[in-house]
Amino acid sequence: MTATTTTTRKVLLSGSRPTGRQHLGNYVGALAQWLELQDECECFFMIADWHALTNAYNDTSALPENIKNQVMDWLAVGLDPKKATIFVQSAVKEHAELALLLGMFTPLGLAERCTSWKDLVIEQGIEEMRTYGFLGYPVLQSADILIYRAEIVPVGKDQVEHIEKAVDIAEKVNSRYGEVFTIPKWRLSKSPVLLGNDGRKMSKSWNNTIQLSDSSDAMWEKMRVMVTDPARVRKTDPGDPEKCSVWAYHKVFTPAARHEEIVANCTSAGWGCMQCKKVLFEAVDGHFAPARERRADLEARPDAWKEIIFEGNRAARARARETMTVVREKLHLYQSNGWD
Ligand code: SF4
Repeated sequence: MTATTTTTRKVLLSGSRPTGRQHLGNYVGALAQWLELQDECECFFMIADWHALTNAYNDTSALPENIKNQVMDWLAVGLDPKKATIFVQSAVKEHAELALLLGMFTPLGLAERCTSWKDLVIEQGIEEMRTYGFLGYPVLQSADILIYRAEIVPVGKDQVEHIEKAVDIAEKVNSRYGEVFTIPKWRLSKSPVLLGNDGRKMSKSWNNTIQLSDSSDAMWEKMRVMVTDPARVRKTDPGDPEKCSVWAYHKVFTPAARHEEIVANCTSAGWGCMQCKKVLFEAVDGHFAPARERRADLEARPDAWKEIIFEGNRAARARARETMTVVREKLHLYQSNGWD
């Protein structure tokens, strides 16, 4: 028996850990591409709650709220449960079963050859991270991908190594037991980097993010204090957009027809940074107006997101079970006769 997929569209798996409200960096780095991909591929979008525990196992109390907020943010920006399967990882227990089996095929060296393991555990010596779960998270990630027979996994450059591990493990199993897994391919996301409003890397822990759920007023309050080209001390000083994080946002959100005007006014000191930020704010605020409407509609129906996730979990589980039936059969594992 081999696993079969009825769809003609390529299967795609992506996801993220529920660590808090989604922000503009998450939108540009992943969600904007997912919105296009959900029309092109058969998409599985996963709330990776088990992965959230790899570095936050000491306090999981925020998980339920984070999961809800992440689902709401995804739906608000336009992820469509009619087009894509949106689900919670821990609701599909087969991920854990497959991760356990893949672990048997994973040499320790392969697991240890992981940038975040080397960085946090070996170089920085963070003892809290020296756990079996953190060492094994690339194996769980491999299970996440292989269990849906995903052909495409969109990733940033730093994630490519994980997909390569999934390929290594899948090929090892296939070489011994026949065609068990579909071999996935990574697709590099060409996402621009947006800095936080303090000019540092955007991070929830630094409180420098602009969140998708922010009101118009809250967005403007965060944008008006954005760090700009440090050489523009006075309004009369000409600026260099390439040294300014506001310009990076303009390139994403402001219509291209206005880019020349922005550069000209910056480099000639034709306008001040506050005026430039107002142009940006109008573009961003307009971009997310439909998301605000969708969010208001979802908030008026408090159980709507749970129903969507319930259906997504059910669909994901069905696909995962198909794969696990094949895996158990190919690996000569115990097959339940339905009596136990
Ligand atoms: S005018 Fe705009 S692009 Fe130029 S430094 Fe100010 S905020 Fe940045």
